[in-house]
Amino acid sequence: MFTLSACELTKKFKNKELSAVEITKRFLERAKGENLGALLSILEKRALNKAKSLDEKLKASEPLGLLAAVPVIVKDNIMIEGEVCTCGSKFLEDYHSSFDASVVKELEKEDAIIIAKANMDEFAMGSSNETSAYKPCDNPWKKGFSPGGSSGGSAASVAARLAPISLGTDTGGSVRQPAAFCGLYGLKPTYGRVSRYGVVAFASSLDQVGPFAHNIDDIALLSSVINRPCNKDSTSIHTPAEKYHEALSDDIKGLRIGIPTHLLEGTDPEILESFDEFIQTLKSCGATTTEICLPNNKYSVPIYYILAPAEASTNLARFDGIRYGKRSAKAKSLSEVYEMSRTDGFGKEVVQRILLGTYVLSAGFQDAYYTKAQKVRRKIFEDYDNAFNDCDIVAFPTTTIPSFKRGSITDPLTMYKQDIYTISANMAGLPALSIPSGFTKEGLPIGIQIQSKQMDDQRLMNVAKAFETKNDSYSKIPAYAEEVEA
Ligand code: GLN
Repeated sequence: MFTLSACELTKKFKNKELSAVEITKRFLERAKGENLGALLSILEKRALNKAKSLDEKLKASEPLGLLAAVPVIVKDNIMIEGEVCTCGSKFLEDYHSSFDASVVKELEKEDAIIIAKANMDEFAMGSSNETSAYKPCDNPWKKGFSPGGSSGGSAASVAARLAPISLGTDTGGSVRQPAAFCGLYGLKPTYGRVSRYGVVAFASSLDQVGPFAHNIDDIALLSSVINRPCNKDSTSIHTPAEKYHEALSDDIKGLRIGIPTHLLEGTDPEILESFDEFIQTLKSCGATTTEICLPNNKYSVPIYYILAPAEASTNLARFDGIRYGKRSAKAKSLSEVYEMSRTDGFGKEVVQRILLGTYVLSAGFQDAYYTKAQKVRRKIFEDYDNAFNDCDIVAFPTTTIPSFKRGSITDPLTMYKQDIYTISANMAGLPALSIPSGFTKEGLPIGIQIQSKQMDDQRLMNVAKAFETKNDSYSKIPAYAEEVEA
């Protein structure tokens, strides 16, 4: 059952080959036995209630949703009414959400069964899942290795088949990089295509919820469910939702692929080899390639670490021990409540980012840093705009290296460079998809990234479909994750 895709599972349920309760119980059991550190809470009661109601619905021949009886895991910064939402932080250890995020509403409207919440870097700040205040998370492909971050738990749990699909969030690469590290598809949709309502904000102008899956059909199906306009998110795009899964096609004849060769320097040779094979495969499907230049891309990491902390310092002001977050028991005055609660509640990385953000927004420095960074952000957008005159998609690897040993990257700058290939899509609001393209000799997954114009998410899925059709997808469970099996 665990290697079935979401599309297959819901079909088996609708054909009465498997009941929703049966599916849910098996997946819950597997989730409870996981030893990767992928999950922060298991929603047994909620999941079983939903499953029972679905079995009754089917019996009564009532209409069923697109994701009927499909177990889904969501990152722990996405709110589910009545459930704990920690954001990977001790500060929110006891926080129970008072409402459902819009994406959760959409999932449940389509009869998905949310079974668990996934581990993550604290407030989604990190690239390795190591800043989680609760526990580290392993890469199911190799013990002791990072699943990537910040949506490390969402990726690890799908790779380990704790659910066929999951949701993460991507502010600078947090869906695509973990997808690449764990051998999965991971999509960052066009900014505004998926509602952020009920998703705890990190950097609001960059954040976007995105799906993980083992195959592109599941990504398309899940994307069809979550890409609906939302009145509660002021940045939601109000064009009708797309039905990606219905429009999915592997016909990419005439597709023009832009390759920014100048960005590839310093990338792991095995990843480059896989990238070449990826391009050759697409060419054999009728695509052509062209050299493009993204001159300002090299500034994307530096400006990200001005803009994202600036937005984060504002967004995280609400965690003060009064409005949100656990209040320090030692505090005796109002200012001590703020100071001590925030000192106790936030981890080191989060504190660092808040300080950085406050600094770049301070009166004397705002023009020198924040305003300048906004201008560079605009340039990055314009570079893409120019490039898309000559090509339909841009392709380059998702990461410069494959998964690394947990604890092996100790200086923040090296860690920040993890997102060197992913951040620019957030800066420009573009859709970007990481596609699993193979493995290194050591057995670690490799991911290739494709990006396209805003609202061109369907094209990315079609390119992935073409590649997947040619490149037999695997239904293997990583050896280490197999230990999870009871
Ligand atoms: N790794 C980046 C960071 O640490 C991106 C995180 C994200 O996309 N949430 O901020």
